[in-house]
Parts: sequence; structure tokens; C-alpha cells
Amino acid sequence: MLKQKSAVVTGSTSGIGLGIARAMAQSGADVMLNGFGEAQAIEFMRAELQRQYGVKVRYSSADMSRPDQIRAMVELARAEFGKVDIIVNNAGIQHVAPVEEFPDDKWDAVLAINLSSAYHLIKAVVPEMKARKFGRIINIASAHGLTASPFKVAYVAAKHGMIGLSKTVAVELAEFGITSNTICPGYVKTPLVEKQIADQAKAHGISPERVVREVMLSHQARKEFVQVEELAALAVFLATDQAASMTGTALAMDGGWTLH
Ligand code: NAD
Repeated sequence: MLKQKSAVVTGSTSGIGLGIARAMAQSGADVMLNGFGEAQAIEFMRAELQRQYGVKVRYSSADMSRPDQIRAMVELARAEFGKVDIIVNNAGIQHVAPVEEFPDDKWDAVLAINLSSAYHLIKAVVPEMKARKFGRIINIASAHGLTASPFKVAYVAAKHGMIGLSKTVAVELAEFGITSNTICPGYVKTPLVEKQIADQAKAHGISPERVVREVMLSHQARKEFVQVEELAALAVFLATDQAASMTGTALAMDGGWTLH
């Protein structure tokens, strides 16, 4: 489905990003992995994906809070793959605290990694995509791009911003064969959420089990975590030629959370 294509997936050493990178590789795309982690484990993962799917898989350690490193990652992808057809803005962090206690440095970090990184990556790849009249921009926001929860002021602001960013570039780039769409997942049990369960338990003063049952999955009508593979399949579809007319959308895959 994605043969002859190449993809840069930010924050793909773990969780949803890794699932998307795997699905893109499985569909035939060359893939640039990115994110933090232990060097040996990342190299093992990279080599394994490459071997398993017979595509080029490379890794960039670029810090998504650093625009210069984002541009360097794009240069590396161009050098390795010849072009960048697909970007997936997925890297993200979370911090949970009441607004009046929210640390300013955490606000800055969440906005930089969850929102500004997408702007810098889009800016770096668009001239080339325009010239080749093809591009797929896939943004991973959240149900928190569509609705709010307490104690997540920076995250909710960044994810709402991601949808605005995506809609704007979708309008600007539609005539150049470039689409931009946002996926809005509900809760997925990844390392990011494991940490949140503990943080939310502290913030709400309740047990981790009650956080899952009464805070997280209470919103999701289906009462189950969303699976990484479901999100990855949607991201692959958005990257295909069959999704050419789909642009500017914010697609909820949230077990019915935002129906409320
Ligand atoms: P995760 O913690 O498992 O993975 C996050 C990835 O981002 C990791 O690879 C990490 O190394 C990378 N990362 C963090 N800071 C970075 C930085 N400065 N530069 C480069 N990479 C960095 O999290 P996840 O749950 O897979 O989340 C992925 C995305 O999905 C995030 O944007 C998150 O907001 C969003 N999301 C997650 C859920 C969920 O329930 N897990 C729900 C909705 C949206």
C-alpha cells in the first residue's frame, strides 16, 4: 500500500508512534524512527523492523523541543530515503496538575513537544511535498483535542492547537496533493498513560484502579482502552492514495468518549 513511500514518525520508540511506524513499514514504506530511549534497545527495534518488513528503517534522536534538531532529522531522512512523503506528528508528553500549581517549565515543554514540533516539522517538509505534488501530514492529537479534562491545561491547549494547525495547513496545501488530518485517540494503555494513572491518582487522591475505572474509562462508552493497532491502521489509511480527498479532519477513535 505504501511501497516507494517514506515516512518520518516522531516519538516512535514507544507506544502509539512505534505501532504506527511498524504498520507503515509493514505496508512497504521506509521509516524514520525518532524518540528517546536506551540506545541498544532502539537499535534492536530498528534492525528488527527492517529485517521483518524488508524496508529501510533509520533512527533520529532529534529532540522535538528543538527546531534545529527537527530540521536535521528531515535532512537525515532525505539523505537516507531521497524524499519525505509522510510525516506523523506523534511525539508527546503529559503533565497533570491544577492550573494554579502548573509549573511554567512544564507548560513550555508540553507546548513545544506536543504542538510546536508539528509546526516545525510541517514547515521543513512542505516545500519538497509541494514540488512533488504529494504529501501526507498525520497528526496525533487526542480526545483532549476535542474536549477538556481537569488538571491537563497544557496538554488540552496543545491538542486543541494541533487540530487548528492541521486544519490551516490542510486548506493551504489542498491544491498541492497534500493532506493534513488529525487522529484523536481516547485512552490507550501506553507508558504515557501508565504514568498518568499514577499522577491522576495523586491529583484526585484516589487509587490507581479507581483512576482507570472512574476517571479514564468512565468517559469511553466502550469501557475499553483503544488499541495501538487500531490507530496504526487508521494512520496507514490516511497515508494512502485512497485518502486523497480526506483532509482537515479530526478523526476521533476514542471508544465513544467525545459522544457525551
Ligand atoms: P509514549 O510515552 O509511549 O511515547 C511517547 C514517545 O514520544 C516516545 O517515543 C518518547 O521517546 C517520545 N518523546 C517524548 N518527548 C520527546 C522529545 N522531546 N523528542 C522526541 N521524542 C520525544 O506515549 P503514547 O501514549 O504512545 O503517546 C503518543 C502520542 O499519542 C502523544 O502525542 C500523546 O499525547 C497521544 N495520545 C496518547 C493517548 C494515550 O492514551 N496513550 C491518548 C491520546 C493521545
